[in-house]
Amino acid sequence: MAVSVGGGVDRLADLVRDADSVVALTGAGISVPSGIPDFRSPGTGLWENVDPMEVAHIDAWRADPQRFWHFYGDRFQSLRDKEPNAAHAALAELERRGVLTGVVTQNIDMLHRRAGTQNLVEVHGTIEHSSCLDCGDQYPLDVVRLRLAQSADGFPACDCGRPLKPDVVLFGEWLPEGALERAYGMAAGADVLLCIGTSLEVQPIAQLPGITQQTGGEVAIVTQGPTPWDDRCAVKLDGDVEAELTALVAAL
Ligand SMILES: [Zn+2]
Repeated sequence: MAVSVGGGVDRLADLVRDADSVVALTGAGISVPSGIPDFRSPGTGLWENVDPMEVAHIDAWRADPQRFWHFYGDRFQSLRDKEPNAAHAALAELERRGVLTGVVTQNIDMLHRRAGTQNLVEVHGTIEHSSCLDCGDQYPLDVVRLRLAQSADGFPACDCGRPLKPDVVLFGEWLPEGALERAYGMAAGADVLLCIGTSLEVQPIAQLPGITQQTGGEVAIVTQGPTPWDDRCAVKLDGDVEAELTALVAAL
């Protein structure tokens, strides 16, 4: 039965304390306090008058890398100065204490890594590097940004001359198989899947709570707004994500 009233953090702390393996699944909501809007949500102002489903599509990158990077470069820029927040820090602390097995994230913003999370699965990739799909060379973000800024063509190029593609999963692309397998394995092995800042509506990540439950684990949710799992989870907290996770760390 879902619990969303006072005492929810204590209930969550009990669940976590009784678990041998706790895995966090995080979405855009955990990075909102860092000033990163959920770019899938309308009205966030990031790409006004532009449909990210169209621009951030693999076909758009193939057809017109200059236009792709014109918009995507702005996204890189907007993420550049963002810092991990207390929610990212709480998960890193729980991992350090041996409470948390790892984090599966839909986010591409590097903030879990920068907060200190070690066992991290980035199912939608990361802006941390970009790759050449022709020769396979990979370049770190700083190099990509420099090449974009200095490029006469309007896109960062590989040494071989071909345009680079950020190592994020664009619309129209498959999720990386290795990352998905790791995510499924972690969900199957979890006594508690702690879903944070995710609507649990984007496939295939939306399958993870079901995998945890089928293998005998519990689903806990710390997310503002409804999810399809609200009536099937052990606990649902819908307060501020930083406050809820900070309280969880304090309660353990
Ligand atoms: Zn190349």
